[in-house]
Amino acid sequence: MERKVVFGPVPSRRLGQSLGINNIPAPKICSYSCVYCQIGITLNYSTERREFYSVKKIVDEVSDILKKLKDKGEKVDFISFVPDGEPTLDINLGEEIEALRQFNIRIAVITNSSLLWKEDVRNDLKKADLVSLKIDTVNRKIWEKINRPVRGISIDKILEGIKKFSSVFNGVLLTETLLVKGMNDSADLIKETGLFILSIKPSTAYIGIPTRPPAEIWALPPIEKKVLYAYEIFTGYGIKTELITGSGSGIFGFTGEIEEDIVNTVSVHPMSKKQIEKLLKKANNNWNIMEKLLKKEVIKEIKYQGEKYYIKNFSK
Ligand code: SF4
Repeated sequence: MERKVVFGPVPSRRLGQSLGINNIPAPKICSYSCVYCQIGITLNYSTERREFYSVKKIVDEVSDILKKLKDKGEKVDFISFVPDGEPTLDINLGEEIEALRQFNIRIAVITNSSLLWKEDVRNDLKKADLVSLKIDTVNRKIWEKINRPVRGISIDKILEGIKKFSSVFNGVLLTETLLVKGMNDSADLIKETGLFILSIKPSTAYIGIPTRPPAEIWALPPIEKKVLYAYEIFTGYGIKTELITGSGSGIFGFTGEIEEDIVNTVSVHPMSKKQIEKLLKKANNNWNIMEKLLKKEVIKEIKYQGEKYYIKNFSK
């Protein structure tokens, strides 16, 4: 059977209803072999751009699915290149984006940024409406340990490419930093990463943690305090920051809306005790709800710089 390249739509916090394009064939082809990769270790390392599917195949599949979705009354917010592998390895990426314009739906590319030193890659990405760049660290040694890049690429050239791209890109620029316990979660490394991200002025910087089974079982999420620290450092630099720490949608099955509101909010933004008290007051409610959530271990209390903060419990 011929392999399908289009999937979804799947709900995504960043992209709404996102129709995914898996423009890299299996088994995964990537320039990285991140320790937290959900697809396992990379067996096909590459930095060479080539054709995997014809532009026509991708456009025809998208057209077909959009027709079916329209009949069902379903909407799509983004057509997103989110393959199992690195999407910019597809030499037709720019042409595909141009051809998909006919559907009048915004187009997103989620890239690991490793090929942004190539001018042709930057030119292709410029055609998208939204680009999300992976920036786990700016420290060469840590980059080599977490992202395990293919031989022959340099982090200095990548960071330079990211800067060049961010200075000319007119669309929505996002960054994604995945924190791994004991690897890129120290105060110094987080500050370095934050300062670099600040310099490229993304619309939003996302801080994530390994949430699904990673390529290496030892690639664990940092303790909540470190994630809160990273959030505070980034926001302290003036970067609009959100957390991706597991489910942030209303799927917790609580009856009370305020409970759901609190859980959904602390999944994205840690909240101080004062902020929660204010919210509870507005909802004509009291601290009992927090006691219940803490007892159920849905959320966690963390002391940070003399204040109590609440954040989602990652292990739940
Ligand atoms: S860049 Fe993405 S696909 Fe490639 S190894 Fe890392 S997580 Fe996996």
